[in-house]
Amino acid sequence: MLLPVALDQTYDYAPPPDTEVAALVPGSFVLVPFGPQTRIGVVWDRPLGDGGKPIDPRKMKPVTSLLDVPGLPELSLRFAEWIARYTLTPLGMVLRMMMSAQSVFEPEKPRFGVRYVAGAADPPRMTPARQRTLDAACDGLIRARAALADLAGCSTGVVDGLVASGNLVEVAIPERRPAHLSATHAANTFADEQARAVELLRGAVDARNFSVTLLDGVTGSGKTEVYFEAVARTLEQGRQALVMLPEIALTSQFMGRFQSRFGGPPAEWHSALSPADRGRIWKWVARGEARVVVGARSALFLPYPDLGLVIVDEEHDTGFKQEDRVHYQARDMAVVRGSLGAFPVVLASATPSIESHVNARTGRYRHVVLPGRYSGAEMPDVKAVDLKAEPPEKGRWLSPPLVAAMTGTLADGRQSLLYLNRRGYAPLTLCRSCGHRIECPQCSAWLVEHRFRNRLNCHHCGFSLPVPERCPKCGSEGGMVACGPGVERVAEEVAERFPEARVVLLSSDLVPGLVEMRDIIKRIEAGEADIIIGTQIVAKGHHFPNLALVGIVDGDLGLAQGADPRAGERTFQLLHQVTGRAGRAHVAGRGLVQTYDPAHPVMQAIISGDREAFLEREIQVRQRGMLPPYGRLAALIVSARDKQLAERAARDIARRAPFSERIAVLGPAEAPLAVVRGRHRWRLLVKAPRELDMQAYLRAWLDALPPIKGDLRLTVDIDPYGFL
Ligand code: ADP
Ligand code: ZN
Ligand code: ZN
Repeated sequence: MLLPVALDQTYDYAPPPDTEVAALVPGSFVLVPFGPQTRIGVVWDRPLGDGGKPIDPRKMKPVTSLLDVPGLPELSLRFAEWIARYTLTPLGMVLRMMMSAQSVFEPEKPRFGVRYVAGAADPPRMTPARQRTLDAACDGLIRARAALADLAGCSTGVVDGLVASGNLVEVAIPERRPAHLSATHAANTFADEQARAVELLRGAVDARNFSVTLLDGVTGSGKTEVYFEAVARTLEQGRQALVMLPEIALTSQFMGRFQSRFGGPPAEWHSALSPADRGRIWKWVARGEARVVVGARSALFLPYPDLGLVIVDEEHDTGFKQEDRVHYQARDMAVVRGSLGAFPVVLASATPSIESHVNARTGRYRHVVLPGRYSGAEMPDVKAVDLKAEPPEKGRWLSPPLVAAMTGTLADGRQSLLYLNRRGYAPLTLCRSCGHRIECPQCSAWLVEHRFRNRLNCHHCGFSLPVPERCPKCGSEGGMVACGPGVERVAEEVAERFPEARVVLLSSDLVPGLVEMRDIIKRIEAGEADIIIGTQIVAKGHHFPNLALVGIVDGDLGLAQGADPRAGERTFQLLHQVTGRAGRAHVAGRGLVQTYDPAHPVMQAIISGDREAFLEREIQVRQRGMLPPYGRLAALIVSARDKQLAERAARDIARRAPFSERIAVLGPAEAPLAVVRGRHRWRLLVKAPRELDMQAYLRAWLDALPPIKGDLRLTVDIDPYGFL
């Protein structure tokens, strides 16, 4: 039995008294006594840790009961073991991740709703609210009381009154079923390269064995349309398919396209689901009823009994890397899942990661290229604005060429988009009298001003305080000044310069959730905005037909992250994606990138559109530095509230690293973000050649360490993406 706790071992239990042992197949969920508590466990088919030792059968406690919940398929057990081994996470934690739908394990509450009773006499007292409610209900559909009240714009009391008068009747709401999807629904006609790509992907699905295909094509080249055909083929085989997208790209636009291709919506899986929806979808997947899941990274851990295809769209997106609890890279784990399940995996991107490029070049992945935009529209014409030569006026952030381009675009009735990957109003607040900079008391980071809320926020720990009137250090009044721009400040400048324009500001802290986000995106598509200002949430997956100009406010921003070997790649991907939003339909697009360093290779690659030259250079840098994918990296982060304790522990751990001629242990060094939430952090970086078993090395090292006690914490991050 394995329990969803931070342990790497199984426990033995006797079968429950009144259940047949045969019902306890591997993967079954059971209730077991665990210390003073009763907990949910899973029947595991091999012992782990101390779990294999024989124990006196008389002392063995029995399982309390077998839960009436679909069990985990055997492949899920193997997948969990693989992830635990690779990420050096206790298996119980991986299991917990696979159970992340609490309501599955709670008793089902039957839900009741109300339905119209046709032919009943009018209620004794007919009020306008009652009339509205009856009008809303007379279509005969079953609705929850609250939903009907909402629809009629009245209180649930009115609904109750109509139940009492016999005009509505209470009925159980039937359990929802997944929509029927049809593979033959409205397929596109494909020409040339698209048709070849479709053939290849269909062939991969037909082969029913493991393969990885990199589907590489500019935005608008039809990657989505092409991989939909692989999904359709998988449906025809009667197997399940998963499409993984970065959370933010799960827009209604995508869902709409899915629906018109398959005649129904997919099962969606993302953080905005209600607990009840999570439970429902988890069960649909486990019973094989959900044929296609479209979801964020955690959708990979759903209990698919017959998964036959995984698509990872925007495969380069760093949102696929999870950085807390279980540290995993979902794109890489999707490939692992494909190899365990013997099915094809498709990685799609307009700017594939260096890792996937190298895998395609060495033949490990198939490489399918869609070279041009389907609509025939040209890629946008991108130019740099040299901020040294043409700076904005003092206290402003938009240079004269960018303002001129925006003016022209507005006059043409087209949309402009300004991109700045910085939330808030200003990244730094400074006292004019004494020069004091306001820092987070718990982190080594400046507080960011958010003017809409009139607060200073820490973007690392969530600490927040009202914008102070006087300097917290010297007490001088009214001397606090905002330094540098965030999106809110750019919006302020735009409002001043273009008072007649309709401006939309898109930033994750201003949009409460995915639902609201979908709404805003829809309004932009419908042309209800002239100027869009946004952080990286505007970069992904949207298609704005009337967008003609993209302005990058600070092209150099992402390059400043010195310690991060992927900084160049990431900046290139982001800038390319954002500028690629322009001119997707009938409008000619252009991009303007404001930079202090127009000669930088990343800027040159963006301007010339010469992706190959950029890739060549990046690949060489990685190869020379033995960086991924040519080498393996792992980060160990040691933290404690006490600075010295953290430092001493980090040095001690480094000293105990087993000697290896081929594995380098770098550091410890104080983390660039040295303090987060009051914890001092030290980092070690482990570098190994690709062919070495890094996990075995780390396990030997970590197992021999004295116990990590008290306030000390040690985090292992295999294949790190964050270097702060
Ligand atoms: P990508 O995923 O590469 O960005 P999409 O699949 O979103 O590209 O395609 C871009 C646009 O072109 C979409 O509006 C899509 O519906 C359309 N499109 C692409 N291929 C075809 C096709 N074969 N037939 C009809 N429309 C297509
Ligand atoms: Zn001061
Ligand atoms: Zn903080």
